[in-house]
Amino acid sequence: MIQVKNLTKRYGQHLAVDQLDFTVDKGEILGFLGPNGAGKSTTMNIITGYISATEGSVLVDGMDVLDQPTEVKKRIGYLPEFPPLYPEMTVSEYLDFVCEIKKVSASAKKESLEKIMDVVKIGDVRGRLIKNLSKGYKQRVGIAQALIGNPPILILDEPTVGLDPRQIIEIRNLIKELGEEHTVILSSHILPEVSAVCERVVIINKGKIVASDSPENLSKRLLGTNRLILRVAGETTQVVKTLENVAGISQVESRGVREPGTVDVMVESETEEDIRRPLFYALSQADLPILMMKAMDLSLEEIFLQIITEEEVAS
Ligand code: ADP
Ligand code: MG
Repeated sequence: MIQVKNLTKRYGQHLAVDQLDFTVDKGEILGFLGPNGAGKSTTMNIITGYISATEGSVLVDGMDVLDQPTEVKKRIGYLPEFPPLYPEMTVSEYLDFVCEIKKVSASAKKESLEKIMDVVKIGDVRGRLIKNLSKGYKQRVGIAQALIGNPPILILDEPTVGLDPRQIIEIRNLIKELGEEHTVILSSHILPEVSAVCERVVIINKGKIVASDSPENLSKRLLGTNRLILRVAGETTQVVKTLENVAGISQVESRGVREPGTVDVMVESETEEDIRRPLFYALSQADLPILMMKAMDLSLEEIFLQIITEEEVAS
């Protein structure tokens, strides 16, 4: 349904998107995951035809976005990072306005607007000025405008950013529902966010794809082991040797010197057991003071580090 080929975007000297290749099948919900600045919005803006690529192409239903922009735009409903809402309009006025832009026929308009307002649950605020709506409702209005014209593809750029936890769950459920009848690309910088809704996740970092898999496989890959990061005062080889002799440790890896006279190490255990106490005793016996010890939790930055390191080791 969507084919992204060798997509590259430069802003001046800055390489924002670097040779992206991926496809989205009909009916799929694809999560597009990456930290801020990874190139998600840029990619979405290119797929939807709002900005042009430096190199590469995007095909939607076999049509190139550059050659047939109107046809492609008809097939895509887009919720940009900053939805183009008009604060001085009421919800109804705004949706009417979008219908006009998208050239929805007057006969189709009434029924389709009722249906859309029903799906995104904004019927009760239709008479309110957009500027007076909560962030959650504004986001629903943004999704509503994307649904106008009944496009088969929905592209949603960080649809839950800035929402409270309850609104996040509501929008998440809404996206799941929409996924039943649409092909969806959804971007986020939060892993659980996309895991909850998506069948497949493409992770990008600095404009490049670093992983593409199902959420289940990604979690397995990332959660299979226990990892700790330690900073120990002492000499690298001695620290590593001491740690390797602790029962239950499957891997010890030096992460370099970040503070003079110390070394940072990553320690991995395959057991469920808490290895922090044995580590403490082993190191103190060897006269190697622990200056820091923390679990390698799954912040996105660390996931990227992990995936990128895995790739470097593999290649
Ligand atoms: P994301 O949506 O993943 O946070 P973006 O696609 O917005 O990332 O940005 C990718 C990179 O390109 C960032 O480093 C950003 O600063 C840069 N960038 C985005 N838009 C522009 C622009 N119009 N001009 C120059 N640099 C830009
Ligand atoms: Mg963005």
